[in-house]
Amino acid sequence: MGLNEMDIHASLKKYFGFSKFKGLQEKVIKNIVQGNNTFVIMPTGGGKSLCYQLPALMQEGTAIVVSPLIALMKNQVDAIRGISSENGIAHVLNSSLTKTEIRQVKDDITSGITKLLYVAPESLTKEEYVDFLQSVKVSFVAVDEAHCISEWGHDFRPEYRNLRTIIARLGDNIPIIGLTATATPKVQEDIIKNLGITEAKVFKASFNRPNLYYEVRPKTANVEGDIIRFVKQNSGKSGIIYCLSRKKVEELAQILQVNGISAVPYHAGFDAKTRSKYQDMFLMEGVDVVVATIAFGMGIDKPDVRFVIHHDMPKSIESYYQETGRAGRDGGEGHCLAFYSYKDIEKLEKFMSGKPVAEQEIGNALLQEVVGFAETSMSRRKFILHYFGEEFDEVNGDGAEMDDNTRNPKEKQEAKDDVVK
Ligand code: ADP
Ligand code: MG
Repeated sequence: MGLNEMDIHASLKKYFGFSKFKGLQEKVIKNIVQGNNTFVIMPTGGGKSLCYQLPALMQEGTAIVVSPLIALMKNQVDAIRGISSENGIAHVLNSSLTKTEIRQVKDDITSGITKLLYVAPESLTKEEYVDFLQSVKVSFVAVDEAHCISEWGHDFRPEYRNLRTIIARLGDNIPIIGLTATATPKVQEDIIKNLGITEAKVFKASFNRPNLYYEVRPKTANVEGDIIRFVKQNSGKSGIIYCLSRKKVEELAQILQVNGISAVPYHAGFDAKTRSKYQDMFLMEGVDVVVATIAFGMGIDKPDVRFVIHHDMPKSIESYYQETGRAGRDGGEGHCLAFYSYKDIEKLEKFMSGKPVAEQEIGNALLQEVVGFAETSMSRRKFILHYFGEEFDEVNGDGAEMDDNTRNPKEKQEAKDDVVK
C-alpha cells in the first residue's frame, strides 16, 4: 500500500506526539505495514505497544490485539481513545460486556471506525466472535505477551495455544505479530512454532542494562543486619526489597522501621485499599523502601529506584531480570543486591513438589540457572545476557565493570585474604 516513511513519522507525531522512534520501533513498523509476519523481543518498557498501535492506526481495517490481562487492555484502550475524538477507535471485547455494548463494538468495527480491538485469548475462541470477525477486514493480529504460549515462559496460558488455529479461520494470510519481553531462546522457539510464523522477521533489542550493578552475597543468619546496613549506607535513596513470603515481608518491614528506616510492606494479602495506600506512600510520599513479594512492580513506573535487594533468590533468571530491572529506569545508578543460600533453592523446589511432573522439571531447570548465576565467578552481566541468547564482551562491553565478580575477581580476593592471614 501507499504507506511510506514520511507517513510513518508524521503518524508518530500526529497520534503519539513523539518526534523520534525508540530503538527498533521504526524497523518493526515498516515490516508490519508491508504485511509481513513479525516477531518483536524487547525488554519491558522498550515500547512494544507502539509497534502495533501505530500500524493499526495507519492501516485499513481492524487490528486484533490479544493480551492476557484485562487491566492492561483497558489502560491501552483508554490511552488510545485519548488521542482521538472517536471513542470507537479502540475497544475491548470481553465477557463482561452487555449485549448493547457488544452491538456497539460490532457496529464500530463494521463501519471501519475501530482500528484496535483488544481481546483476551479465551474470548477469541468464542464461536460467536469468530463468526463475526470472519466477516470484517482484519489488518493483522498482534499477540502481546507472546511468551504465554510457552511452558518455558513464566506465565503459561493454555488458551494461547489455540491462537494459531483461530487466526487461520479469520481469513487468509492475516499477518501475525508476536511480542514479548522474554528473551530465552527456548521460549522464542516455542512462540515461533506455536504461532506458525517460522518465516517471520525477528527484531530483538539488547537486554543489557549497563547502569545496573549486580552483586550476590552469601545469606547469613544476620541477613537482616546486612540489609539494614546497606539501606543506611544508601539513606535517602529509593529501593525495593523482595522477599518470598508475605510473613517475611511484614517482619522485615517492621525490623527496618524499628531501625529508623522509612519502609512499607506490600503483598497480595492486603486488601486493595491498603495496597494502594502503601504503593502511593512509596511512589509519592517520600517513603524510601518498599518490602514486597513479587506482587509488587507490575506496571509500576518509578524512574529513580536506586536499589533492588533480593532477600530470597527468585525462581528464575527471567524473574531476577524483571525485578532488578525496576532499578535505574532513569539511566542513573541502580544497585542490585541478592542474598543467596542454597537452602532457599531447596525451599523453592519444595514449593513445586505438588505440581505436575512436567512443570516440576521445567521449574527445576530454571532454578538450576539461578544457582549457576549465584555461584558463578564470571561477569554476572555476561551470565544474564548469555542466558538471553546475547553475546557480551566482559572487557569492553557497555557496563563491563558493573558487577561484583568483575570488580573483585575471586582469585584476587582469595590472594588478598591470604596476605591478611
Ligand atoms: P513495553 O510494552 O515494551 O513494556 P510500552 O509499550 O508499555 O513498553 O512503552 C513503554 C513506554 O515508552 C510508554 O510510556 C510509552 O509511551 C513510551 N514510548 C514508546 N515509544 C516511544 C517513543 N517513540 N518515544 C518516546 N516514548 C515512547
Ligand atoms: Mg507491553
